[in-house]
Amino acid sequence: MKEKVELTGIVLGSYPVKDYDKRVVLLTKERGKITAFANGARKMNSAFSGITEPFNYGKFSVYEGYDAYRFAGGEIKEYFQKVKNDIEGICYGSYFCEILEYLCVEGVGDADILNLLYMSLKALEKKIVPYNLIRRIYELKVLSLEGEMMSAFFCAKCGEEKVTSFVSSLNGLVCDDCKKYVSDSYSMSESAVYTIQYILSSPINKLYSFNIKEDVFAQLDHVIDIYFTEHIDKKFKSLEILSTLA
Ligand SMILES: [Zn+2]
Repeated sequence: MKEKVELTGIVLGSYPVKDYDKRVVLLTKERGKITAFANGARKMNSAFSGITEPFNYGKFSVYEGYDAYRFAGGEIKEYFQKVKNDIEGICYGSYFCEILEYLCVEGVGDADILNLLYMSLKALEKKIVPYNLIRRIYELKVLSLEGEMMSAFFCAKCGEEKVTSFVSSLNGLVCDDCKKYVSDSYSMSESAVYTIQYILSSPINKLYSFNIKEDVFAQLDHVIDIYFTEHIDKKFKSLEILSTLA
C-alpha cells in the first residue's frame, strides 16, 4: 500500500462484497471517480458503515493501492438526510449517481461534475423546483459537461439565430426555414427554447433557480428525453424503481 490521500467527494454507490466489506464508488474533485474497498464496513458498529452511504458529501481518506484504493475513513459534511427520507428523492438522487458511475472515467478529476451533483442533491433536498424538472435540467447539463452539448443557440443546419424546433437527427434546434426540410422536427414555444438555452449557459449554482408552466415543461420533457436517450444507451435501475412508484 502506498500513502494515505485525502479527497473531497460524494459517495456515488456502495455495494456489498465478501461477508462484511463494501465496495465504495466515490466521485472526487481531485481524482474523478474512484473505487475503494471498505473492509468490515458491514459489521455491526463499524465506523465505516454510516460514512459510506450514497449521497454523503465530505472529505474521505483512502490508501492508494496497486490496482484499487482502500477506504480509511471520512468526515461527512452533508448527509442529504431529507433526500434519503423520501423514496422519490432516493430514486432521483440514485439516478443522478448512476449516470455518473456510468459516464465518468476512473481517475480523471472534474470539479464541475462534482459541483453539479452536489447542487442537484441540494435541489432535491430543498424541493422548491419539482423533481421531474430537476431531472431534466440535470440530464441536459450533465451531457453538456461531458462534451455532448445540444446545439441550441443557432440553427443546427444554417446558423440562423432564431431557433424554433428540435431535430433529434441534427442534435439540436433549427430555424423555421430549415425545419421544412427535415421530417423529424418538433416545434417548441419561445419559452421552451429559452429554458434550454438558460440551462446550457447558466453557471451550475444558478441552475435550479426557476420553475416553468406545465405546457413549457411538457415540451422540455419531450425534447430532453429524446436527446438524453439518444446519447446514453443504458437502462438505469433507479428509473425502473421510480416508474413503479407512480
Ligand atoms: Zn436554419
